Amino acid sequence: RAKGEGRGRFHFFEPEMDVKAQNRRLLELDLRKAIGAREFELFYQPIVNLADNRISGFEALLRWNHPTRGRVPPGEFIPVAEETGLITTIGEWVIRQACIDAKTWPSDLRVAVNVSPVQFRAKGLALIVTSAVANAGLIPDRLELEITETVLMHDNEETLATLRQLQVLGVRISMDDFGTGYSSLSYLRSFPFDKIKIDQSFVRDLINNPDSIGIIRAIAGLGQSMGVTTTAEGVETQEQLDQMRNEGCTEVQGFFYSRPVPVSEVASLLSGFGGRGHVAA
Ligand code: C2E
Ligand code: MG
Ligand code: MG
Ligand code: MG
Repeated sequence: RAKGEGRGRFHFFEPEMDVKAQNRRLLELDLRKAIGAREFELFYQPIVNLADNRISGFEALLRWNHPTRGRVPPGEFIPVAEETGLITTIGEWVIRQACIDAKTWPSDLRVAVNVSPVQFRAKGLALIVTSAVANAGLIPDRLELEITETVLMHDNEETLATLRQLQVLGVRISMDDFGTGYSSLSYLRSFPFDKIKIDQSFVRDLINNPDSIGIIRAIAGLGQSMGVTTTAEGVETQEQLDQMRNEGCTEVQGFFYSRPVPVSEVASLLSGFGGRGHVAA
């Protein structure tokens, strides 16, 4: 070998990096066209209240039906949308569409929408939300905005001002993926959230890690003493459901009850399970 090992290694990795970067660039170009091309679709996953075993609402989960790649999962395109700033436009579409869809449901059902930290920091979120609920004719109380702890990491006055503005509008604010951030507890103190969504990693971990049940118990207790709804995410089995009930969680969400479904299947979900959102315990 005439050339050094180091150079050889670089040559080995370079093409792969190119493919990755290229793929990302293509994804970005396609993302720019996706809204106009009506390639986005909202799926809805029911959230079940454990007090009465009824569906209390649905979380909107974004799907991208790419013309050649098929359905691209949010984990793949949302990071790209965030890096390019496209998430602001896409996120506005999500909020507007979720309000329009929720308006067709029974009026005691809420809709939850995920808001990216990038979308949150961009100006005008409160205006978009105001316009979206007004346009759909939805009572603001029926809209929940899910934010992650990343939003509060740069916990400055502007972030808190936006949160307060949104709460004054009458929409609800949930903390999503609770327990995965750096400083989960202190965030709870900085703003009066309406709901805590316990990250699914704790629920998934129950069998292997006995500490997880202690953590879930602590979060449920925290919610009870603070008067905040607690929702356990990622409940897949009867056993997990029973444990969430025992530990005092308010609500559960997960494949046990239903995977996210297209909006056209929401009505049959509600009429199934033996009547208006009444689900099997
Ligand atoms: P998330 O907000 O925590 O949403 C819950 C995710 O867990 C969804 O994945 C859902 O399909 C999945 N899930 C629900 N129940 C179960 C279960 O029992 N087991 C398992 N294994 N998974 C379950 P999805 O739809 O792939 O979304 C992933 C993430 O992408 C979301 O996490 C959210 O952070 C983000 N996302 C989705 N839609 C939007 C959107 O419209 N805007 C923004 N900014 N982010 C979104
Ligand atoms: Mg969420
Ligand atoms: Mg979550
Ligand atoms: Mg998540």
